[in-house]
Amino acid sequence: MTAIVFGTGLTYFLYEKFYVEKQKEILIMQGEELRGYYYKAANKEEFKKRVQWTDKASDAKVIFTEDPMLLSAGIPYDESADNNLITFEERQQLLAGKRVIFIREHPRFHQDILAVTIPLLAKNQLTGALFLYMPLADIYEPFRSIRIVLAISLFLLLTIVVWLGLKMTNRLIKPLKEMESISQKMSQGDFSKRIQVDQSDEVGNLAASFNILASSLETVDQKRREFLQNVSHELRTPLSYMKGYAEAILDGVAGDKKAVERYVSIIHNETDRMQRLVHDLLDLAQLEDDSYPMRDEPLPIAQLITDVADRFDLAASQKEIQLVQNLDDDLIVNGDSDRLEQVVSNLLDNAIRYTPNGKSIAVTLKREGASAVLMIHDSGPGIPKEDLPKVVERFYRVDRARTRKEGGTGLGLAIVYQIVKKHQGLLNIESAEGSGTTVVVKLPLYKE
Ligand code: ADP
Repeated sequence: MTAIVFGTGLTYFLYEKFYVEKQKEILIMQGEELRGYYYKAANKEEFKKRVQWTDKASDAKVIFTEDPMLLSAGIPYDESADNNLITFEERQQLLAGKRVIFIREHPRFHQDILAVTIPLLAKNQLTGALFLYMPLADIYEPFRSIRIVLAISLFLLLTIVVWLGLKMTNRLIKPLKEMESISQKMSQGDFSKRIQVDQSDEVGNLAASFNILASSLETVDQKRREFLQNVSHELRTPLSYMKGYAEAILDGVAGDKKAVERYVSIIHNETDRMQRLVHDLLDLAQLEDDSYPMRDEPLPIAQLITDVADRFDLAASQKEIQLVQNLDDDLIVNGDSDRLEQVVSNLLDNAIRYTPNGKSIAVTLKREGASAVLMIHDSGPGIPKEDLPKVVERFYRVDRARTRKEGGTGLGLAIVYQIVKKHQGLLNIESAEGSGTTVVVKLPLYKE
């Protein structure tokens, strides 16, 4: 803004300066021409005529006097000493044969004038002088229109600059203000608001990022609520069982000793379930924390699987289930033995739980490129296609009522998924309703 005003002012100033300079040159040129003629003219009358002609024909006024001594005394047209054409100092210059040029207010003409006085010398004596002048008002005349044009342009320019400035500030400030009010709502727990993004500049990008942040926070908030709901739901059921049966015993509703024993056994089972649930929850919380440490040592994976499978011998034989193992003994993977045992244990636990009595479970370990691939195939009911992607989520169960009865917490596969992920491995569940389930765990082989 300052630059525009300064620039316009400078243009005006320079233009005016050059114009005045030009007029000065014209005056000097005319004066010099007349001076040349003064020496050439046949007689004084002719010269005076020429002076009069120049005076009439050009913008400049020309005064010729033959008595420069009197110039400062106001001669030839005025007797008053106040109305001298030039000052004493200026007359001294003329006497020295120099031109006198000035711009000032002249008492004789009652206005600012641009004047050029040219000495006329003969035999080194000052014999006369030519006084050419122009009122400054005349010189500035053409500037009046220029000044108006400049003023209008400047005004228009300023209006445009101010308008653009306001528009830009609005564009910048509006989304920022919106962000401020939305972030205030966020701090109060409302993550639903978004900014309308209709520009693609930096502020637009910022607003878009802000919306992404708001969406992530909303998702996190929603997950947190879901989690709390699930946890309280999971705890509420065993607690109400325990409370109910404990009250029945206290009130003497149970009757005989056998019934009391049965009730206490139910309470014991529910306590067990709650203990497992709390344990699994804590485990999962730790595993989901990125900074949770995981041991990293070479492990003979076939041995680890056999060890875990041995622990399930009793449970399998109770259901007359045969565990068919086909393991490549040479494979070594890198990892945390306790955590990988937990993976195998959770998967075998599920397989045995969901496999009907008398059927078999195949446990296979083989090499596939740079990976060890563990496959646990059961002949259970399978998992419906639409539930497959969700079974690794916390608390997700295909058949809530049934799995609860069977003691599941809904956290087993979520834990398996986290552990496998932390080992840079892949978990894949292949299943079709009615044709069993195959859980595939792919782990990178140990590299020397
Ligand atoms: P749970 O402790 O309930 O078994 P999981 O996370 O291990 O929890 O499993 C989640 C759900 O996936 C189970 O409730 C069950 O419905 C289904 N599921 C898991 N493994 C099998 C399997 N081998 N056969 C059929 N359904 C399974």
